[in-house]
Amino acid sequence: MRRTHTCGELNSKSVNKEVVLQGWVSKVRKMGAMNFIDLRDQYGITQLIIKDSIEVKTEYVIEVEGKVIKRKSINNNISTGEIEVEVMKITIINKSELTPFEIKDDVQTSDDTRMKYRYLDIRRPSITNNLILRSKMNNVIRNYFVKNNFIEIETPIFGKSTPEGARDFLVPSRVNKHHFYALPQSPQLYKQLFMIGGIDRYFQIVKCFRDEDLRIDRQPEFTQLDMEMSFAKKEDVMEVIEELLIEILNEVKGVKLTKGFKQISWDEAIDKYGIDKPDLRFGLEIKTITEMFKNTEIPLFTKLDKKVIRAISVDELVGKKELEKLTETAKQNGTNILGFAKFDNNTWSGSIGGKLNESEKDGLVKTFGIKKSSTILFVVDEYYKASKVMGALRNEVAKLYNLADSTKFELLWVVDFPLYEYSEEDKRFVAAHHPFTMPREEYLETFDKDMVNAKAAAYDIVMNGFEIGGGSQRITDKDIQSRMFKSVGLSEQQVKNNFGWFVDAYNYGAPYHAGLALGLDRIIMILTGAENIRDVIAFPKNSSGIDMMNNSPSKVDESQLNELNIKLK
Ligand code: ASP
Repeated sequence: MRRTHTCGELNSKSVNKEVVLQGWVSKVRKMGAMNFIDLRDQYGITQLIIKDSIEVKTEYVIEVEGKVIKRKSINNNISTGEIEVEVMKITIINKSELTPFEIKDDVQTSDDTRMKYRYLDIRRPSITNNLILRSKMNNVIRNYFVKNNFIEIETPIFGKSTPEGARDFLVPSRVNKHHFYALPQSPQLYKQLFMIGGIDRYFQIVKCFRDEDLRIDRQPEFTQLDMEMSFAKKEDVMEVIEELLIEILNEVKGVKLTKGFKQISWDEAIDKYGIDKPDLRFGLEIKTITEMFKNTEIPLFTKLDKKVIRAISVDELVGKKELEKLTETAKQNGTNILGFAKFDNNTWSGSIGGKLNESEKDGLVKTFGIKKSSTILFVVDEYYKASKVMGALRNEVAKLYNLADSTKFELLWVVDFPLYEYSEEDKRFVAAHHPFTMPREEYLETFDKDMVNAKAAAYDIVMNGFEIGGGSQRITDKDIQSRMFKSVGLSEQQVKNNFGWFVDAYNYGAPYHAGLALGLDRIIMILTGAENIRDVIAFPKNSSGIDMMNNSPSKVDESQLNELNIKLK
């Protein structure tokens, strides 16, 4: 290579060295007869000082030859801040037009423009760094698994549907007319077959595809760390994953965590936090306080029927604007009325606060341990509905009052998930995880008869309020598997057509096995503090699933469709 150093490499030890640098012009400044250029590459920025007049503009690609000298005014914010390069020769490698937005971190432009010119966006140090950290994380993962005797095996992208609860992306087959491959929602079935194939420990960093509505933490194609272990139980998988996450956090963030992450049951998570992926960086525990109001005169709390009163206490006197925002959150989550009581200097006020009797006041102070000023937020609804609203309110309160410390990483396991969930759309029970998840031992007799109460040997790992992964003990018993399929409404014929190839494998000797998958995009999003998952993916889709750069998905030629025998109406 012609360059002798990168733009992030030179420091006071390099003074007097003759160097060749190459990179992009980040800034040009003129001071008297002198010209200053900030030269940027992936590694950093080096200040150049040029005595002659120059013909360069921002984002030109240049090469300079020169001598490293000590800077007069030191810049402690960058690694090269003690030096500058006195340029003897400058060569323009390539010119640049004026870029659609300035290449800097606090860029003022729309997301769609950034995505359209993503290659320019990637030049911005914050995006470059996200990609670097992502690569580092993948490296830690591969090293960790190889060290622990796992082998990485690739699985097909063109396959058959995997039931992970989303819609499939389909790919038509030209040679097999009217037949489609499904892109994998996960490698679930293949990894289970590896266990039957005698592979002891499998892992893979793998792309998965799910046709779902997009959110700030969701893209149609995403990357999982997928793993499976034979002769392993839930505890074995959890131990391996804890060690891995400890290594990732240490290597990528320098954060030290210790083994033995907190574990709570799904029931407890819903009861205390209203959600199955609680953010534990703040308290705001939800309490059910129906009993406290059994003799109340407050209209909202009477004629409850099957409803309950759930509440949280915020250590603030919540203002009008904030209350409006919280009421909006309650509405979006299905409850129209958000009751509140403010406690300040021993006096109560607010929609509920003004109507409390003495025993209720007493009860609230004791239950929530109120000392100074506080605002209690109340929701009245059926237990699970009220929990959902409270869970959302809890997160919104934390956002409004900045309660979640961004330097903290709180990890926990949520275990004992329900085996099924009721799908309003399909009007039937579906597998909450996927239908290969083992019921917990104490539900083996009853799981398909009492589906509401059946619990799964499944576990999720949660970090700072995001579900970053999940897995389960797998069903390895044919009888349990067919009961499971039947209970989610699959006929024998449907099972045969869809999963016959997979289920048959369990006729030939399967070890018991368990595994898990981590969502790598989400993890790196949390570790980098990115606000949107798009910021940690090289070429992401926008919120309508469109790649703004190449405009995919795009229409295809009629001739191509003809070849596939596909007719568009
Ligand atoms: N396949 C599951 C998922 O993608 C993970 C697992 O059960 O291992 O969520």
